[in-house]
Amino acid sequence: MIWNAAEKISRKEMRELQLSRLRWQVEYAYSHVPFYKKKWDEIGLKPSHIERLSDISKIPFTVKTDLRDHYPTGLFAVPNREIVRFHSSSGTTGKPIVVGYTRNDMDNWTECCARMASAAGVTRDDIAQIAFGYGLFTGGFGLHYGLERVGASVLPISSGNSERQLMFMQDLKSTVLVATPSYVLHLTEIMEEKGIAKEDIFLKVGLFGGEGHTPEMREQIERRLGIDDTQNYGLTELCGPGVSYECLEHTGMHINEDMFIAEIIDPKTGEVLPEGSIGEIVYTTLTKEGIPMLRYRTKDITRIMYEPCACGRTNARMDLVMGRSDDMMVIRGVNVFPSQVESVLMGIDGIGQQYQLIVTTEKYMDRMEVQVELLDGAILESYSNLERLTAEIRHKIKTVLQIDVKVTLLNPKTLERTAGKSKRVIDKRLKAF
Ligand code: ZN
Repeated sequence: MIWNAAEKISRKEMRELQLSRLRWQVEYAYSHVPFYKKKWDEIGLKPSHIERLSDISKIPFTVKTDLRDHYPTGLFAVPNREIVRFHSSSGTTGKPIVVGYTRNDMDNWTECCARMASAAGVTRDDIAQIAFGYGLFTGGFGLHYGLERVGASVLPISSGNSERQLMFMQDLKSTVLVATPSYVLHLTEIMEEKGIAKEDIFLKVGLFGGEGHTPEMREQIERRLGIDDTQNYGLTELCGPGVSYECLEHTGMHINEDMFIAEIIDPKTGEVLPEGSIGEIVYTTLTKEGIPMLRYRTKDITRIMYEPCACGRTNARMDLVMGRSDDMMVIRGVNVFPSQVESVLMGIDGIGQQYQLIVTTEKYMDRMEVQVELLDGAILESYSNLERLTAEIRHKIKTVLQIDVKVTLLNPKTLERTAGKSKRVIDKRLKAF
């Protein structure tokens, strides 16, 4: 079900709405946040220079360290008396980042999460078990308010205590589960241990986020629980969950474009890439009063799709996150992410999950070798099968990456593992400084 008419307006109307909101947001940020004013003044940029949507590329990027450097509230646009809620990132490295919401920000955030819930088919007939942690983490409260807004009965059980989770899930007949995908997989293991079958529970859909998950994890979750697995995307810096969300067509995550402008940039040069390119997704908030974010670099690698979706929503979709820009390699001038190679390998029969990319320089040229384990080593005994499979992988990688690689097939369990995984990239090139 489409929750809000803003999700299905024409592209032209959306661009007009985005432009008027962008112009408001930059004027607001410039006049309320000294950090933005200083950055803009340094390059002679004025809010009045933002006349078209494409002018957004003139705006300097904002990065995570900007938030840390202004800890705790240096980037806030309003005094604390206007703030009705604080949240914070976990801050595993150094100071955490702190964000604040005005009453309007809370209303918009709730709206974003209500659209997410509705896109996953949640209605007032549902019982939603929220196994996200409640607290400074945005996940629990974001989903809580959004699910309440669509009228679902919310069970704010919070994270942990798997036995109690399963007891309530069975006794209250929860139909919606909110959790991180890795916790869901953990729950399925406890279910197996306790002999609880998927027929013993009433779940029909999962709203999963807080971390990315691979297609294999999704397949396992759907099979073990017999539910629809929907993913959603958000960052504390932008609001928390609700930036984008999947509908039941599973064609990528619809972006709340009336609240955020998304761009794809080259993570090395910062240049905006043409439509359809894979690169780093950058977000600009359009309605934020508490802490406006202009061109926030997420470091998440994905692409944006603009074709219409069968669900009827017209807002663009971002693909599932393919990796982090920190993992990007430049090989012969081409941006390469290990995850792109991984997705090629996953689509080929007979290939296991363990692989390694070895990058070297030969005669001043970059060279990449893809070493990948076979599921069954017997194939190594047939030269023609080996040739065929090697050629298929080379061809598919060339189609995706536009570069020629060497492919080496290995016996199962050949690659060295650390914590179950092999080290993905070995870059032996000399680093230039
Ligand atoms: Zn859709």
